Parts: sequence; structure tokens; C-alpha cells
Amino acid sequence: MKGRLFIVSTPIGNLEDITLRAKRVLGEVDLVAAEDTRRTGRLLAHLGLRKPMVSYHDFNKEKRTPELISRLLRGEDVALVSDAGTPGISDPAYYLVVRAVEEGIEVVPVPGPTAFVAALVVSGLPTDRFTFEGFLPHRASRRRKRLEELKGETRTMIFYESPHRISETLKDILEVLGDRRASLSRELTKKHEETRRGRIGELLESCRLRPPKGELVLVVEGAGKGD
Ligand code: SAM
Repeated sequence: MKGRLFIVSTPIGNLEDITLRAKRVLGEVDLVAAEDTRRTGRLLAHLGLRKPMVSYHDFNKEKRTPELISRLLRGEDVALVSDAGTPGISDPAYYLVVRAVEEGIEVVPVPGPTAFVAALVVSGLPTDRFTFEGFLPHRASRRRKRLEELKGETRTMIFYESPHRISETLKDILEVLGDRRASLSRELTKKHEETRRGRIGELLESCRLRPPKGELVLVVEGAGKGD
């Protein structure tokens, strides 16, 4: 019998957000494949678990995938865990999932926290239709090209961004998409959690006066939704 590949979501900050099922699955699998074994080791220790772990990240995924696939084919159950949140959302789970599906291995989701949903639901912007854009390109020309493509997007748009690029991104959004309503959430579920809401121009000014630190999610209203 083949093993199963569990895609296990873990907290994006607050450790209380681990689900009961995630804890059970992490305790039952033969192996945990983690983006950062030290970080996941701390989570497992917090849960009172000890498990064999291997690293699985963007830089070793090509090398690691065949090893994990052969262990799964031998009947071992594997849990895939990313640094935070849901594996596959702006981190490297996709590569392994594709190979597992090709091999007829059962892939089982263990849902839980993910930063973009948390940011969307507190944004105050429409949640009925949205598009998750992940990180915009780092190069200014490509970022602006992507934003041009999003000009007519009527759904609420969600972006991941880093603190040192947020002002540049807001400036580009202001120029390309206009002064839309938006929200900027940082450090969700953590001690310094904060959500700033306003027009893009207001958020830009707010970031100038008080540069946001930590992890960020930017939510922008879709075209034609303004009042
Ligand atoms: N897999 C993760 C998820 O499910 O959200 C995302 C991983 S991606 C490599 C990391 C980015 O997610 C950060 O740069 C930030 O934009 C966002 N993020 C993760 N945790 C966050 C938090 N606690 N508060 C705000 N944004 C967060």
C-alpha cells in the first residue's frame, strides 16, 4: 500500500491556531518534510511531538522530491509543512504535490491558517469575489506590467509584500490602478498585529510616517467598486 501525503497548515504566528487534526496527523505520520526544520522542530516540541524530519524548500525541492516520492511509494505517510500557514500558498508545495498526483499517491489536505484569507476578511473590502496575486514581481518594470494587466480586474485583489518594498508597490498601484480603497495588514495573529485601512494614497502617507515592520498583506478593491 502506498503512503499518503498530508498537506498540513500551521500557524502564521499565534501557536494556538494549530488545529487538533494537524496535531494528530503530525503525531501519526512517519516523516515530516519541513521548509525550515528548526522552525518546525520548535512547533513540534511545543506540541510535545518528536518526529523524523527532512528539509524541503525552494532550493532543494528538485533533489528532495524523488526521495520523498519513493518513501511514499514504499508505504510511508509524509506530512508536508511550510514555514507558516498553508503549504502551496506562495511556498514550495506545488512541486511535490504534482509528482505525488502523477504517481497516484493520495494527497490529503489538513486545512488551517493562511495569511491572505485572514487579511481579506478583516479588510472591509468585498469578500464575495477575490483574486490572490501573491508577490508582485520585484523588478519595477515587471511589477508595473503586472499591475497594468490587473487594471480591469473587478474582484478584490490580495498581495503579499515585504516591508522594504511596500512603499514602491503602493506608489505603482496609485499610478496604475488609481486611488482605490485598500487595507494593509501586518503581523496577523501576532503581538503587533495591525490593519490600516484607507485609500492607497493614505496608506502610502501612513507608511512614510510610520514604516510598517514584519510580514504584510495588502488588499486592494477591484475596478469599478469605489463609491
Ligand atoms: N504559506 C503562507 C500562507 O499560507 O499565507 C505564505 C508564505 S509566503 C512565503 C510569506 C508571506 O506571507 C509574507 O511575506 C507575508 O506577505 C505573508 N504572511 C505570512 N504570515 C503573515 C502574518 N502573520 N501576517 C501578515 N502576513 C503574513
